[in-house]
Amino acid sequence: MARTRKAAQDSIVVETVRVRGTVQGVGFRPTVWRLAQGEGLAGTIGNDGGGVLIRLEGPELAIERLLGRLEASPPPLARIESIERKRLDEAPSCTDFRIIESETTGMRTAVAADAAICPACKAEILSPFERRSRYPFANCTHCGPRFSIIRAAPYDRARTSMADFALCADCAREYRDPADRRFHAQPIACPVCGPRVRLIRLDGRLDGGAVESGGMPDAVEAAACLIARGEILAIKGIGGFHIACDATDAAAVARLRERKHRDAKPFALMARDLAVIRRYADASDAECSVLESPAAPIVLLRANGPERLPQAIAPGLDQLGFMLPYTPLHVLIMQRLDRPVVMTSGNLSDEPQAIDNDEAAERLGGIADFALVHDRAIVNRIDDSVLRFAAGAPRILRRARGYAPGRMALPPGFEAVPEILAYGGELKSTFCLVKDGAAILSQHQGDLENAATLADYEKNLGLYAALFEHHPAVLAADRHPEYLPAKHAREAAGARGLQLVEVQHHHAHIASCLAENGRAREAGPVLGIALDGLGFGDDGTLWGGEFLLADYAGYRRLGTFKPVPMLGGAQAIREPWRSTYAHLSAALGWQDFAARYGGLELCSFLDRMPRATLDAMLRRGINTPLASSCGRLFDAVAAALGLCRERARYEGEGAMLLEAAVDRAALEGGDHAPAYPFAVHRPAPGDLAYIDTLPMWQALLDDLGRGTPAGVIAARFHAGLARAVAAMAAQAISNVEAEGVAIDTIALSGGCFQNRVLLEQVMARLAALGRAVLTQSEVPSNDGGLALGQACIAAAAVLNERGQACA
Ligand SMILES: [Zn+2]
Ligand SMILES: [Zn+2]
Repeated sequence: MARTRKAAQDSIVVETVRVRGTVQGVGFRPTVWRLAQGEGLAGTIGNDGGGVLIRLEGPELAIERLLGRLEASPPPLARIESIERKRLDEAPSCTDFRIIESETTGMRTAVAADAAICPACKAEILSPFERRSRYPFANCTHCGPRFSIIRAAPYDRARTSMADFALCADCAREYRDPADRRFHAQPIACPVCGPRVRLIRLDGRLDGGAVESGGMPDAVEAAACLIARGEILAIKGIGGFHIACDATDAAAVARLRERKHRDAKPFALMARDLAVIRRYADASDAECSVLESPAAPIVLLRANGPERLPQAIAPGLDQLGFMLPYTPLHVLIMQRLDRPVVMTSGNLSDEPQAIDNDEAAERLGGIADFALVHDRAIVNRIDDSVLRFAAGAPRILRRARGYAPGRMALPPGFEAVPEILAYGGELKSTFCLVKDGAAILSQHQGDLENAATLADYEKNLGLYAALFEHHPAVLAADRHPEYLPAKHAREAAGARGLQLVEVQHHHAHIASCLAENGRAREAGPVLGIALDGLGFGDDGTLWGGEFLLADYAGYRRLGTFKPVPMLGGAQAIREPWRSTYAHLSAALGWQDFAARYGGLELCSFLDRMPRATLDAMLRRGINTPLASSCGRLFDAVAAALGLCRERARYEGEGAMLLEAAVDRAALEGGDHAPAYPFAVHRPAPGDLAYIDTLPMWQALLDDLGRGTPAGVIAARFHAGLARAVAAMAAQAISNVEAEGVAIDTIALSGGCFQNRVLLEQVMARLAALGRAVLTQSEVPSNDGGLALGQACIAAAAVLNERGQACA
């Protein structure tokens, strides 16, 4: 017995192990090399088109231990999608374990996202005894720039902006040593051979020359002192410039708002560590672990710490967007500052952020008086990602630095799909590539109405095509006739003779949610609830509060919100009171409203507006498109409460202020908490069910008349809306099930679900229906997630066509 077991332990086997996922350019090969050294295993490891291929020779148990350790603690930036093992019937042929240089062909899994400085590099730059002491560009295989510096694939130094810096002998040795943390770290650098930082004046005043790092005083040190003194600085980061100032200095913050023409949009903040953040905001363990993750996004936190920041940081909001220093440069600046620093993107409102030193001096000179720049070029602009927790899970609101261009395996059933390019939406735009059964979602591109942003979007389409060797056979786009990316897609399809799939906006939202949750292609339809601002509807009106029976292949509209005209079209978005007037006119009629609620300040406000013109527009149907938009309903209620009435200073301001106003105590009691009534209409056969807001408005106006606090009104509105959504869902499910279609799942998407109170209230009310509820987390529920949904819908269409062709 003992003999056989010993024999089994000692038996030498030969095995190949295929690892798929994000496994190239993230220190995977040296990690396996070190594990193999530890176990005394022989073999090889190399990158290829399928990911990483390992050959292992040695005792079976040692191989088991190696793979166990690899799975339990892979390199920090790696994401293993699958490990396939194959025992070979061969004799061992290796004498040691070797890393094979890659002949990169085929799939480009090598382009990883930029990653925040790792603990080892951080300790190194803060130690006075290291070669890279206080060096602002230290990095290793576990951290540092990736996507932001790449010019072309495959990812190696010569094709990045590090190509300008020749390695010194010490860095070259580290780069070649598999036992070193910097083995094959493409952006490897040190004070001898790497980029340098420089502090320059932008205010036109005479200076004594730029301050170089390494000189006295150190440029980074000087920058920290200037911030502490109340100055405004531009700082070149990893994917663009930031504008920085002391967040506790109300005068500096006010000056920054004025210069940036950004009068209300909340500013992002950076703090040295969690202890500084906790002085101003609550951060749960889960929130802290996201703050400290390699992606290091901005996390929106409840602003209820013992200390307060000036109101101007995030006017009217109850949360602050914090991030931790994610580059060595940021670590060194923040080390000197025991308080939060504003780190807003370096641009004028609505423009993309600057990335080039000269461009920054020109464009940011009117905002910042100094700039901390460096000579490592930013090749690809990428914004900070934004995330918040809601209903117990992280929700990415803006997917950019640290996440893009991450790969996402598509759900079962999409394996055989051809290459697809989905163009996304027009606002908060992203695009999505499908290749080898996986989706690659681009970073947040911004609002394409801006010419500079659109130019950047076009550049990025080309970049991704090159990096991922992507040759789409099929294009997908929104059905909206005027969306710029959809126009682009139509032109490209025509010019290149490619198939174009045009996708309804809300169908794409729901498909995005299904894909993110891994719902199989053939899994059957769900009830999709898409609540957002606006999307082009199949009947030519604008939709935005939709209940859809949907799968990837198609959808049927089961319910909506009663459509209300948008007074002046897009002007109604900029001036929220227009939505209030339209809603009240549609629900009550002005005469009834004025008769019953004439005493309200709201009534006298609306009465001062050009009502005669508006009424004429309504009568004649001029520039008053109908919209079943949940977003406009939020605008209408926020404006009625006076939270955001005459002008929305940024997109979604009304909804954000309304959520922030919610008195949490007024939500307690769950099903029994006071909530405004909405009417859910049962349709006659063949008609569409809809939610009517009339009873809600009456109750809300009565509360206004009684002087009920805005926080209580906001709570009752959210609670009532959630109940109406659940009631509509219940009705839709029972109608569909009466037709013999079983619904086991509800999918929630659309920008309105970024509202934490609404999401949590809706999920709580839906629980009673006993269906699984899918929500978005990794992919934004706003229009930033549309491209993924479009891609999957196009994929399903193509696969179904093929299936029919075969049958
Ligand atoms: Zn590192
Ligand atoms: Zn060096």
